[in-house]
Amino acid sequence: MPEPGDLERRTTELLQRLIRFNTVNPPGNEEECQTYLADLLRGAGFEVELLAAIEGRPNLVARLPSRSDGPVLCLLGHVDTVLADPADWTHDPWSGDIANGCVWGRGALDMKSQVAAEVAAAVALAEEGWRPQSGELKLVITVDEETGAEHGAQWLCSQHGDKVHADLVVNEGGGEVFTYGEKRLYGVCVAEKGVFRFTLATSGRAGHASIPRIGVNALTKMAPVLEALAGGRVTPEHSPEPDAFFEALGVDASDLDAALAEVEATDPRVAVLLEPMLGVTMTPTMIAASQKINVIPARAELRVDCRVPPELGEEHALERIHSAVGAGGGYDISFGETVVGNRSPIDTPLMESIRGFVAREDPGAAVTPVVLPGFSDSRWFRAAFPDCVSYGFFPQKAMDLFEAAPLVHGADERVPISDLGLAARFYANLAEETLR
Ligand SMILES: [Zn+2]
Repeated sequence: MPEPGDLERRTTELLQRLIRFNTVNPPGNEEECQTYLADLLRGAGFEVELLAAIEGRPNLVARLPSRSDGPVLCLLGHVDTVLADPADWTHDPWSGDIANGCVWGRGALDMKSQVAAEVAAAVALAEEGWRPQSGELKLVITVDEETGAEHGAQWLCSQHGDKVHADLVVNEGGGEVFTYGEKRLYGVCVAEKGVFRFTLATSGRAGHASIPRIGVNALTKMAPVLEALAGGRVTPEHSPEPDAFFEALGVDASDLDAALAEVEATDPRVAVLLEPMLGVTMTPTMIAASQKINVIPARAELRVDCRVPPELGEEHALERIHSAVGAGGGYDISFGETVVGNRSPIDTPLMESIRGFVAREDPGAAVTPVVLPGFSDSRWFRAAFPDCVSYGFFPQKAMDLFEAAPLVHGADERVPISDLGLAARFYANLAEETLR
């Protein structure tokens, strides 16, 4: 096992380096960053391939095989980031500056930090001569995650399934500690919701806006729809992950409405994050109607970002939409982008490893499965390899979930150095424990 202080230092320096590569997607421009990681891993003894769907944006696959059969453990990550406006930041978003015990910069949480911890752990292990006794250690570092993974994980899983195949995947999506009353809990992301974006259209009859009743205004017909969607509440439904989450909180979930109300009363911050796991969310984000101020619109269109629990499809989404806005309201609903979410089982040896690590590092704390309201590269791995267990876990103890969540895709994104050390220890431990 690599020395903890050394592991923390390696991870910190690597993260600083990674932040200094500007990989804002679009356009991504990840090649230089990926080549840097490839050299590092190759130097430590990994077999490394760079696989690109398009020029200048290679994905990285690194392997450290053993001579005997066993599980393939894949540490997964992406190096592209969302944009950043330096004017909003205390430190330049591409500086990788260290201040107040943190590394600052775009990607410090999502997710160059995890990539740095995974690669630093793998390199440190390999350099000190460690090799898997069975199975294989794999690192898959993708591009293009932030805009849908068309050239990243989605492409890798469909075009190079043999190269990225894995039995166990550890990716982003969970791991920050949070408190609930006296409890300290670490979330493990075991499932991703699906995306069912839709357009709701109303129609009327055009006419001169100076004579309001000469036409039929399609825009004002949106008022009851917007009213119905205001508040962002969900109709809660039972499914394995939120049921287990309530259990971890110590809340009786036989009546979901009552359970959610109890959490809301105890800690509204937890309720805000928990509620989307419980059902279909519908968030109106864009609206369009007349092109001219003096013309009553004959058509109006509202676009809604709709997220559906794992494994449920369009039929379920439509049922919820109709019960929210009314089925016979004269609306026309059409789906645009749709992706069905998926899940991994909750009780697995990988979950046991995580539970064991948390018990050693933070005695008294517990672990709970969570559902990611958005989706990550895990989705593509679960879909391509039906037996693969893919979890999101990047343990964070110094910075909790409530502090970290607003920084992801926000200004002043940063990560405590001690959490980088914690995460790197987890990945090194996991490789040793799984591939013995
Ligand atoms: Zn991410």
